[in-house]
Amino acid sequence: MWNKNIETFLGCDKEYEEARLVLFGAPFDSTTSFRPGTRFASREMRSESYGLETYSPYQDADLCDVNVFDGGDLELCFGDTGRALTDIESRTAEILHDGKLPVMIGGEHLVTLGAVRAAYKKHPDLHILHFDAHADLRDEYLGTTLSHATVMRRCFDLVGEGKIFQFGIRSGERSEFLFAKEHTNLQKFSFEGLDKAVAALEGKPVYLTVDLDVLDPSVFPGTGTPEAGGVSFMELYGALEKACSLSVVACDLNELSPVYDQSGASTMTACKTLRELLLFLSATVDRGGKS
Ligand code: MN
Ligand code: MN
Repeated sequence: MWNKNIETFLGCDKEYEEARLVLFGAPFDSTTSFRPGTRFASREMRSESYGLETYSPYQDADLCDVNVFDGGDLELCFGDTGRALTDIESRTAEILHDGKLPVMIGGEHLVTLGAVRAAYKKHPDLHILHFDAHADLRDEYLGTTLSHATVMRRCFDLVGEGKIFQFGIRSGERSEFLFAKEHTNLQKFSFEGLDKAVAALEGKPVYLTVDLDVLDPSVFPGTGTPEAGGVSFMELYGALEKACSLSVVACDLNELSPVYDQSGASTMTACKTLRELLLFLSATVDRGGKS
């Protein structure tokens, strides 16, 4: 049984049994290619989140009214990527089995693979909605097939042709963009075409993965591989609203590296993104009639 975490994310202090959304951290950054530090994201977000209000004037909704349990962080083995992914998969599977919606805080983007494995086992028709600056479609990187630069390619290996929808992408090797042309649905630079994707994904089980570096580094410099030319916070907000109109079965936010933004603004942006996401998702589970 999980013990109640002493410090939870803002307003996420409900009991596991009653919760419909279950938050947990996956503080893993062993394969980060450039600058590590995402392992500190979830704990920083928990403590910094108290600088935010629980109330969202955007949605006229309050986190205090939403049943979210914060299960704390997984203890992951930094030297063993395979084992870390298995642990993430197990925790995600446990939450899904209990009829709840897992919301994971990375960590580097590779953590998504563990959660996607669990979601795919439960939902063989799983589709993936992916917001990111980077395509993450390399087949291998620095000699390994398991890296945050290969995570969407590994997800593709699982879910198959045409099931991944990528937005905001502005970085990758030419071969990744060629791969995307054949096998995924990739929108460069922006959320243009998201409405069409949402229409195509209607009624399908969706895994939503948000690599926060999709945001422009001017609003979100606290990440390992910042990439100029990104979206604004409100553009991301609008995209999350559309994404959460779908049957989202699991999701994550990843790639915050608090240490690279001494102002703390990136961490607060991540917290605000998570607050809005949790509020959107609670409406999603209400629609789905889950308890
Ligand atoms: Mn990524
Ligand atoms: Mn990225």
